Amino acid sequence: DNHSSDLVVISPGSSFKSGRYVVLEKLGHGSSSTVWLVWDSIQHQYVALKLLLHKSVESRKWAQEKEEIQILKHIVKEDALNCENVVKMYDHFEHEQHQCMVFEHLGDNLRTLLTQNSSSQDYPTAAAGLPLQIVKCLAREILSGLDFLHHQLSVVHNDLKPENILLMIPSARNSKLPLDDDACLLPAKSSYSRGQKSLSISSSSATTIACCNDPKSVQAAFGCKIADLGSACYVKSLPSKRIVQTRPYRCPEILLGAALSPAADIWSFGCMVFELATGCILFSSTGARRTCHHKDLHHLACMWEILGPIPRKVTSTGKYAQHYFKSDGKLRHFEKASLNQVGTGHLEELLQNQHGLPGKDAHELAQFLCPLLDFVPMKRPSTSQCLVHPWLSL
Ligand code: ADP
Ligand code: MG
Repeated sequence: DNHSSDLVVISPGSSFKSGRYVVLEKLGHGSSSTVWLVWDSIQHQYVALKLLLHKSVESRKWAQEKEEIQILKHIVKEDALNCENVVKMYDHFEHEQHQCMVFEHLGDNLRTLLTQNSSSQDYPTAAAGLPLQIVKCLAREILSGLDFLHHQLSVVHNDLKPENILLMIPSARNSKLPLDDDACLLPAKSSYSRGQKSLSISSSSATTIACCNDPKSVQAAFGCKIADLGSACYVKSLPSKRIVQTRPYRCPEILLGAALSPAADIWSFGCMVFELATGCILFSSTGARRTCHHKDLHHLACMWEILGPIPRKVTSTGKYAQHYFKSDGKLRHFEKASLNQVGTGHLEELLQNQHGLPGKDAHELAQFLCPLLDFVPMKRPSTSQCLVHPWLSL
C-alpha cells in the first residue's frame, strides 16, 4: 500500500522520539495515516503509534489534524468523568514534518471482525451478520462513547464506521498490563466461531470467550471503543464546506449541503448497526455511476427506496437540494421509477426477507433503527434516548 504517510520509511525496529518508541509491526491504516504497534520503552507497555501524512501534502488536512489532537487532549482531560468508550491518546509529537499520536493499544476493528465472520469455513455461504446479542452489546458500547463525545465534549465524530470502532483486548479492559513484563504481548486477536456461537478475544496474557446465547457473558467479555477522531469537530465549529463521513454512512443533510449536527453521527450509527446485524452495507453505492453527483443521486434513491419518500421539508433544504430534487419534491432522473410507492415498512421486510432475520428479530431491530434513520435530523433520537431503547436492554 502506498500512503503519503509512508514518506518517512518505517519498518520493524525503527524508533521515534529519541529511541523511546520502537516499532514492532503494522496494525492498520486509514486514508490519511498508518498505525504501528510500538513498544514504549519508558512506560514499558505496548502502544499504537498513528503517523499522519506529511505536513506539506495538504494544508487543509493539516489543519484538521490539529483539531484531532485538540479533541484528543480534551478527551484525556475529561477522562475523570468516564470515557471508557473513546480511545485515549497518551502522547503526541512531530517527526520529520509528520504529526504522530500515541494511543492505548487496542484490538481488531469491527470490519475485521465482520470479514472473519463472513469467510467462516463452517458456513461459507450463510449471511454474515453477527449474532444479535453481540450487535446489541457493541451498540451499547458505541452509544456510550458517542454520548460522551456529544454531551460532555460537544464534539461530533463525523466518521463512524466499522473500521473506526476497535475492540478492547482483555488485558486492556481490566487494565492490568504487566508493567515490566516485556516478554511477548502480541496484538490482540478476535475470532468468532459461528459453529460454536462464541466469540473469543485473546492476547498472549488473557483470553475472553463469550457465549453468544448469553447476553451477560457477551457484555462481560468485551467492549469496544470509538477511535479515529480525524474528522471530528466541535459542534460550534461544524464544517459547512468540508465533506465528512465515509460514503455509505453519509447522512442526507451532508449530501444536500444542509446544516450539520450531532444527529449526523446517529445516522451513521444506524447504518453501522444494520451492517453488524446483516453483514451487508445498508446504502451501498456499488453500481453507482462515475461522478459524485450521480453517486449522490443514487445514494438518495437507495435511501428513498428503503426508508420511504423523503419529506418535502428535506428536499427543499440545503445548498444542493435543487441539484437532486425537482420543485415537486421528486428525485431527478428517478421520476419514472416506482420510488413513491414504497412504504416505510420496507426496512423490516429487508431484514427478514433478504437477510434472513426471524420475523420477531427483524421487527424489533427495525423499530430501533427507523427513528435513527429519520430524514429530518431533529427527529432522530439523541444518544441518551437511544441508550434507553428497549431493544438494547439485556
Ligand atoms: P485514519 O484516520 O487514517 O482512518 P485510524 O485512526 O482510523 O486512521 O487508524 C487506522 C486503522 O489502524 C484502524 O482502522 C485500526 O485498524 C488501526 N488502529 C488505529 N488505532 C489503533 C489502536 N489504538 N490500537 C490498535 N489498532 C489501531
Ligand atoms: Mg479510520
